[in-house]
Amino acid sequence: MTANDYIRSLFVKEDEVQKSIEQGLTERNMPQISVPPEVGQTLYLLAKISGAKKILEIGALGGYSSIWLAKALPLDGKLISLELKQEHADFAIENIQKAGLDQKVSLLVGDASEILDRLEKNGEKFDFFFIDADKLNFVHYVEKAIQLSKPGAIITLDNLLLGGRILDEADQNPAPTAVRQVNQMIAQDPRLESMLLTIGDGLGIARVKE
Ligand code: SAM
Repeated sequence: MTANDYIRSLFVKEDEVQKSIEQGLTERNMPQISVPPEVGQTLYLLAKISGAKKILEIGALGGYSSIWLAKALPLDGKLISLELKQEHADFAIENIQKAGLDQKVSLLVGDASEILDRLEKNGEKFDFFFIDADKLNFVHYVEKAIQLSKPGAIITLDNLLLGGRILDEADQNPAPTAVRQVNQMIAQDPRLESMLLTIGDGLGIARVKE
């Protein structure tokens, strides 16, 4: 048993819908790239501890992380999740409904950058963000999240270790380069205070200063 298996088996409390999503993704030939359960539980706790009432997620896939985030919201809370692919959004909505969380969640289908511009124009503000879509836009998504944030908002991001590829400076491919840039940004931007947890594939947590 690894330390991760131990943590997962002892601390993670998935419901039946969450447990079924992995198989549902396989049956639909969708990628198995949901966050691992221990990252889901961590996102849930972070959202709950921060008292988040309005959450923005970028990248829904089958709704696995959406369910963790929506569960952390109070009854009058709201999660807006952005997803490029209609078939992913349809499966996410199905799972969110099965979990009884559809009152709290809106899935917006389309390119995240365009939807973020729209949300900004409409004056929307959020107190918690989870960024888990196309890596090449991560810096842009963090910049947009800062524009859309209430003071003290939390921005979380997945895959900031990229399977260890970011440590290999010889690997100058677009994905590790983009992830190194976003790590640099959240570590050094004076508007943020941040940490990178070595849980899962690297979970970034940044707080937007008042
Ligand atoms: N957060 C999900 C979870 O843990 O259950 C996994 C999300 S998966 C890693 C990334 C998702 O982002 C995919 O479903 C993909 O279709 C979506 N995506 C990729 N590029 C996007 C874009 N430009 N705008 C919105 N969604 C995008």
